[in-house]
Amino acid sequence: MSHVAVCVPVGTGHVNPTLGVAAELVARGHRVSYAATAAHADRVADAGARLVPYRTTMVGAGAPPQFTARDMHHAMDVALRETQYVLPQVLSGFRGDEPDLVLHDATMAWWGRLAAATWSVPVVAGWPNLVGNRHWSLNRYVRLNPMHPKVLLALWRAHRLARRHGLNVLNLLQSAGADAQLVFLPREFQYAGDTFGPPYVFVGPCLIERPSDGDWQPPRDRRVVLVSLGTAYHDRLDIFRTCVAAFRDAPWHVVLAVGDKIDPAELGPVPAHIEVHAAVPQLKVLSHAAAFISHAGMGSTMESLAFGVPIVAVPQMTEQQANADRIAELGLGVRLSPTAVNTEGLRAAVEEVATSERVAANMRDMQSRVGAAGGARAAADVLEGLLEGRP
Ligand code: UDP
Repeated sequence: MSHVAVCVPVGTGHVNPTLGVAAELVARGHRVSYAATAAHADRVADAGARLVPYRTTMVGAGAPPQFTARDMHHAMDVALRETQYVLPQVLSGFRGDEPDLVLHDATMAWWGRLAAATWSVPVVAGWPNLVGNRHWSLNRYVRLNPMHPKVLLALWRAHRLARRHGLNVLNLLQSAGADAQLVFLPREFQYAGDTFGPPYVFVGPCLIERPSDGDWQPPRDRRVVLVSLGTAYHDRLDIFRTCVAAFRDAPWHVVLAVGDKIDPAELGPVPAHIEVHAAVPQLKVLSHAAAFISHAGMGSTMESLAFGVPIVAVPQMTEQQANADRIAELGLGVRLSPTAVNTEGLRAAVEEVATSERVAANMRDMQSRVGAAGGARAAADVLEGLLEGRP
């Protein structure tokens, strides 16, 4: 049996999508080691894997980058600094027990690619979000000027770093040349999905139960609406206050997951049918929810599709805008402007997505696509194929 390293960055939204793959590999008798921060120790244990912890430069580093044209070079600087800090820790964490294959987060764990090059083992890039090619890319939303001096400097630094490991800048930025590109979305959710040939494999969400998230009991008598803006771009007291005002007298049971930057007391007194938590076991709540007011992070979006819960998307940053537009375009929910959320609009949107026959039919169709994508089993097949020397 083989030893697989899963290399994930700090963000929960990049860790959770990989857990099902790890659990499936463990179930098939392989050994899986996660290079992850200690904050994810319980999730890694949920998947039956071993933690190889690393320290990060990305905690307490201020607001997360917005990935807009204006701060793209900043995002790249953050990624480069993290890469240089984490790589030696990971190489030393695996010394004497090197893996046979690396699955790394393509967007933010560039150090995983460099580690695989150092170990000379097959490498699989994992994409927890939309992928790009010449038919569609996030550049439509970012409008990056590649000739901006700060962008050029960041690219040059990335190129120099890659070259020291026998790679080039595209190997880092786009995971070019990886043995496989695993996309944790069904092809039908991807813009221009039909234009992505091999080595892209759209396996869809790879979810497992996450007992370490805790437990949650549904109410008996009301429909449930979950409200979450994810784990990173969630410092929006105004939106959570609007939710409380919108549903104070409405016949819904509201589960608010406000994140770790907002003190629930700031929302004032709330009625019994509104629960306020820093974090909730999202999969458990979704399994009982009739609607999801979400920032449209891709992890949450895929979880919502897996459970067939229609989405009211309130995107907070560029990538989420693209996700939200796709949700609306495919009729899996609606998109609201995050700067114009008001009580009536929010209540009406939730009512609409929860009762619309059209949305329900689209959701059923997408759920069957999610099933057909194969999830963790399809992903593990790809990895095993590479371990057995099949391309
Ligand atoms: N999550 C959770 N409980 C919460 C908030 C988030 O379990 O209260 C999980 C959610 O299920 C998903 C991840 O955290 O797996 C968030 O990822 P996503 O890509 O949606 O957003 P991000 O946090 O990266 O913005």
